[in-house]
Amino acid sequence: MAQYPCSIHGGRYAGPQQSLYPAILNGNSANRTKLRACPSCFRDQLNFLEGHFTEATEALAEFSDNPSQCGVCLDDVQRSGAAAFMTTYDREQNRLDWFAPVHEGCVPELIALFHLPAADR
Ligand SMILES: [Zn+2]
Ligand SMILES: [Zn+2]
Repeated sequence: MAQYPCSIHGGRYAGPQQSLYPAILNGNSANRTKLRACPSCFRDQLNFLEGHFTEATEALAEFSDNPSQCGVCLDDVQRSGAAAFMTTYDREQNRLDWFAPVHEGCVPELIALFHLPAADR
């Protein structure tokens, strides 16, 4: 049994602990947290990231030329929007960095999806 309950569904679970570090940068404010996820919630988050985010190494190469898609609604986003990052560690502790620009209007939805603390403004 893991020592802590899953940060996402709230229950205790069997199996290795897997970690996620979501962050949203919006102007001068940064909202970040650490999640410990059970294997099932971790897989859900990875599925979401694979569909909505870009691995950071690829994003750096592509970001300057290509229009970017919002990590929540997948519409084009201006560079003035917020930026979302996620670092994931699977059970073998392989690290992946994920990135997506996000519309300011989509930030509240992403805060809920990533289980971040509510923005304090
Ligand atoms: Zn869970
Ligand atoms: Zn959006």
